[in-house]
Amino acid sequence: MEKVQRVYKAHCLVLPFPLQGHINPLLQFSKLLDHKQVKVTLVTTRFIYNTMYRGSSCTAFESISLETISDGYDEGGRAKAESTQAYLESFSKVGPQTLAELLEKLSGSGCPVDCLVYDSFMPWPLDVAKKFGIVGAVFFTQSCAVDNIYYHVNKGLLKLPLTDSKILLPGMPPLEPLDLPSFVYDVGYNPAFLEVVIGQFSNVDKADWVLCNTFYELEEQVVDWMTDFWPVRTIGPTIPSRYLDKRLEDDKDYGVNLFKSNNDACMKWLNEQRKGSVVYVSFGSAAQLDGEQMEELAWGLRRGKSKFLWVVRELEAAKVPEGFIEETTEKGLVVSWCSQLEVLAHEAVGCFVTHCGWNSTLEAVSLGVPLVAMPQWTDQSTNAKYIRDVWKIGVKAQTDEKGIVRVGEVENCICEIMEGKRGKDIQRNAMKWKELARKAVDEGGSSNKNIDEFIAILVKR
Ligand code: UDP
Repeated sequence: MEKVQRVYKAHCLVLPFPLQGHINPLLQFSKLLDHKQVKVTLVTTRFIYNTMYRGSSCTAFESISLETISDGYDEGGRAKAESTQAYLESFSKVGPQTLAELLEKLSGSGCPVDCLVYDSFMPWPLDVAKKFGIVGAVFFTQSCAVDNIYYHVNKGLLKLPLTDSKILLPGMPPLEPLDLPSFVYDVGYNPAFLEVVIGQFSNVDKADWVLCNTFYELEEQVVDWMTDFWPVRTIGPTIPSRYLDKRLEDDKDYGVNLFKSNNDACMKWLNEQRKGSVVYVSFGSAAQLDGEQMEELAWGLRRGKSKFLWVVRELEAAKVPEGFIEETTEKGLVVSWCSQLEVLAHEAVGCFVTHCGWNSTLEAVSLGVPLVAMPQWTDQSTNAKYIRDVWKIGVKAQTDEKGIVRVGEVENCICEIMEGKRGKDIQRNAMKWKELARKAVDEGGSSNKNIDEFIAILVKR
């Protein structure tokens, strides 16, 4: 069949930081732009391009072009770098050069680039955009509450190390130090990452747009506060729309996995389970659990009444207690990666034990799944605070003095969600937020209107 030539309103280059939790929202945003007649070229590093698995929804790549730049580690990627610091330095040196070469190439292609949408973890693409005279739109993949905290640290308005036991920030509930991101409450923990997260605000004042993967209703007060400073537009949740509305029926998952998935096995197993009976457990793409924590979690899952589906990435597998998988086949399934969206959307899933990564949090919000929060590092502690105390869509597992969530606590938290009275209230709240998320991306909803406005202004240039 002859291919129909599409007419585009504008051309955006979209550049995520090469991590799963960053590629997912920026790729999904790309699909939304594409759906609204904007040509998108997704840019990733050469290493990621050569190693990623393209998921079942990759019909997206029939219209979204893929291009690469270099981070200096074309062979082996970030794992080959001596340290996070070394990787970031290399990327900020080689990245701008190779991005400029790509823009040069595309400017002669008959479809020049109008706008660069770049991940806030890398401030340098804005300089490249300015050099080429195109629009620079920074894309924040974390919550606006977390943006607010990092901004205050960047400006020296929140001094580190923290000295106060109560932290008051505009548009946010009072926070205790441990509600702040780990890099902030424990300054020595990971200085290279602290620099990255604080650096997100180094040149944000010069960006033409500040796009945030959240929705207005979810973080109203803090979004209002941010809007006083920058041209902020909330555009989320960037969840494939098959789960939210019916616009893109075949849009099943994000489309790119950095891990090999066992999704068919998950779906087959889930299809055999009763409605709302399964606890889904996942700690995302990067968190590394303490060995002792992994054991406590395993025994907690085994002791609880509910069945479980547990994602343990290959690199974490050795921490699962010996014999656990064989002994619990009746009760649970352990896989190395799945299509989390499909799992969360499955009617068998009644609860999500999560590390509270922002994508996982937004996905649960959007799909109405109650949570047991077990934050590990980075912004997860702040997300956990909102999950329990602001949106009231989950409980937070308590740690002991060693920072470990013990067997009994795992069991109790799951039981509270699956069977307790509080669980019913939490389920009701989860359904309320699900509905608000759907409305935000629907025709006329806050995020949908913001994306339309972003495109309209791009077209007028
Ligand atoms: N994810 C997935 N399959 C899994 C585990 C995670 O597809 O087995 C996806 C999940 O849907 C989310 C992303 O990986 O979009 C993880 O991002 P998040 O911000 O939650 O955590 P991070 O990995 O950045 O810590």
